[in-house]
Amino acid sequence: MRKLRAADFSDLLIRIRSKVRAWGNRHLSLAGRATLIASALLPSAQFQLTHADVPRSVSLSIDRIARFFLWQKDRNTRGMHYVDWHTVCLPISHGGLGLHSLDKWRGPLRSRHAWDLLQPSASMFHSIIRHRYGDRLLRGTPRRGDSPVLRVLHEGMTHLDPILHWRIADGASISVLHQTWLLDLDFARWPTFIDCCGLEGLMVADLLDDHGGWSLDCLRQLFGAELITLILQVTVDPNLQQDTPTLLPRFSGQTVTGLAYAALFPPPSQDAGWIKTLRLRPRERSFWWRLSLDAIPTRTWLAHRGMAIETNCPWGCITPESRDHLLGECSCLQAVGTALQRWGLTLPLVSSWTALMDGLSNSACSSTFTLLGFAVYHCWQARNARIHLQEYATPTIIAMRVLESASRSATFPTQAN
Ligand SMILES: [Zn+2]
Repeated sequence: MRKLRAADFSDLLIRIRSKVRAWGNRHLSLAGRATLIASALLPSAQFQLTHADVPRSVSLSIDRIARFFLWQKDRNTRGMHYVDWHTVCLPISHGGLGLHSLDKWRGPLRSRHAWDLLQPSASMFHSIIRHRYGDRLLRGTPRRGDSPVLRVLHEGMTHLDPILHWRIADGASISVLHQTWLLDLDFARWPTFIDCCGLEGLMVADLLDDHGGWSLDCLRQLFGAELITLILQVTVDPNLQQDTPTLLPRFSGQTVTGLAYAALFPPPSQDAGWIKTLRLRPRERSFWWRLSLDAIPTRTWLAHRGMAIETNCPWGCITPESRDHLLGECSCLQAVGTALQRWGLTLPLVSSWTALMDGLSNSACSSTFTLLGFAVYHCWQARNARIHLQEYATPTIIAMRVLESASRSATFPTQAN
């Protein structure tokens, strides 16, 4: 099979571009565009990425089309990219929109082939591949002139490694440093109390004696007493026909591809569940996602980038319009709060983003912020209509919209609590 070139995928790119042109005719929110990208644009290249040695330039081109479509205002107007593509493609738990960048997704897609290859009941095709390439499939880096099949499998194997735990038969297939066979992490990612350089290139077989048990002399040369105690608890099972991989227990319950993709990201460092606490619908949720990244073009935001002269809030407030201002100080939001008050509802205003996060982390009152979630969104919509000289909603109308949105939301706070 000859090496594939970018030109071999021109049809695919043409198809994707024509899809995007057709969608450009509709008026779509950011959430709507993100849904189309996730459900129709990126998956259209998934088959080729999984099975063929697609040049990286092709997956980068498709990512680029998706990126521009996400921020596009309409068919003829390109919008500003308020959030970089890397952040957009982070999982939701890590502060992203959860889109799968093809450049990142291709390795995990291919890990499925590598996993099939490692199964004892591998197909005839896999047996032939295994026989032909032997250990080169599991280790080493692809070389110039390697076949596309080997390249696809090798990339898959690289992404499979972090989610595998190896059971030892003779240790000949298991790298001491780069594969997981002790507890649930490979040595290369352990805290550095081990001399990793001394372990480079060693296989687990090198730590065993002639009878297939652990060689104490060898272990003492390489590891400290505590680690040796742990290693001695690992079973070497001569009844296994060969070293056997299993999926790490902490990754169980998902597809191999999903697991390999999740392993690309560290565990979330902070609780990103706040956005769920607001119980919004997709349109408002993507607005709040942008707010969380301070990626909303308030006048202060624009002024910092040299794009606005006037910084005061367009609702006539005598203070600069910033993200914090939109959450409590703004006269429009306060008037919405007064209107809601007449109907017996309290709008919880906050002085800053930090104060909001503190409030949301307090489970006793977090659900009351749903109203604020809708109110800030609708005030922002009315504000945009106003500065573009379109008909805009008054605070009373906004309050009615807030009430309507909140009552349609599955968990209206006054009913839930
Ligand atoms: Zn204001």
